Amino acid sequence: MKSHDAIVIGGGPAGIAAAMYLARSSCSVLLCEQLTPGGQVLMTDSLENYPGYPKGIKGYELADLFVAHLENLPVDRVTGAVDSVTGAAGKFVVRCAGHEYAGKTVLACAGARHRALGLDREDALRGRGVSYCALCDGNFFRGQVVAVVGGGNSALEETLYLSKIAGKVYLIHRRELFRGTKTFLERLKATGNVAILPNTIIVELHGDPGLTGLTLRNVQSGEERHLPVDGLFVYVGLEPATGFLPAELQRDGQGFILTDTEMRTNIPGIFAAGDIRSKLCRQVITAAGDGATAAQAAFIFLEQL
Ligand SMILES: Cc1cc2nc3c(=O)[nH]c(=O)nc-3n(C[C@H](O)[C@H](O)[C@H](O)COP(=O)(O)OP(=O)(O)OC[C@H]3O[C@@H](n4cnc5c(N)ncnc54)[C@H](O)[C@@H]3O)c2cc1C
Repeated sequence: MKSHDAIVIGGGPAGIAAAMYLARSSCSVLLCEQLTPGGQVLMTDSLENYPGYPKGIKGYELADLFVAHLENLPVDRVTGAVDSVTGAAGKFVVRCAGHEYAGKTVLACAGARHRALGLDREDALRGRGVSYCALCDGNFFRGQVVAVVGGGNSALEETLYLSKIAGKVYLIHRRELFRGTKTFLERLKATGNVAILPNTIIVELHGDPGLTGLTLRNVQSGEERHLPVDGLFVYVGLEPATGFLPAELQRDGQGFILTDTEMRTNIPGIFAAGDIRSKLCRQVITAAGDGATAAQAAFIFLEQL
């Protein structure tokens, strides 16, 4: 079995940057991605905060540019989900889509996915009115009434996006104050078809087979009311994609991988970069920065192996 210097798991901004930097350092690289490269960028309508694009850039356009950049570099690629990483530094074995690949180092860049609300019937209504991706599913609700739940940037951005498609958008947040950027919030407040419902949680989802409404509870007064909606978009935080990694890999209380500032984990030879790791700011630019750092740290590690 051919052994690569590095196996990068995940083709989002972190994984693409890591693969790029490693290849440019003359390391042999294998990039494993379960879907089309791009990661969460492909679920984003437009990015307004990526340096170099003062007018913003569409998510799919940025993802295309990432892939085009890789295409000029000697990076081996395999499409499939990694289901395990075993072995030790110098001889890791990565199982991906039924095949085994040997790598001297592993860079875990598998990102994160949106957390579910954990309500009864949420799974049954997934794809039947309950969605975790406005860009993918927003168009099904043209002119209809939808709700977005969450208080961070993703919730605010996606409410703005949906306000251009849906007839009415309710933004439901369990607290008074939003974590997301003020610019987005101000824009939302000035958008005619958006109603903001702070201090509110969803306690029940209604509808069979499709979503028809929500029971909302005001967390201050305890008062409950029914809100008829056609769609619900859930943006209540992230959970890291770490199921394929060794159990001994240290994680924080929410399951994100703990690293030092050089993206080293507690297992020598395994590095983690991007949304998968425990950190303050989960954005494209920080993911790409982590990927570059992890690649450099892996390169130094390989020289000393
Ligand atoms: C709706 C939304 C809006 C956003 N808006 C912005 C914004 O405006 N600006 C900004 O900077 N950031 C934004 N973000 C955040 C940004 O997209 C992420 O921080 C960034 O994509 C993280 O990059 P990553 O490479 O760490 O992970 P991801 O982008 O999550 O990529 C991880 C990749 O790993 C793959 N993968 C996962 N598990 C496996 C496995 N077992 N085997 C193989 N492959 C696997 C996934 O398919 C995915 O392609 C937004 C995110 C969302 C969802």
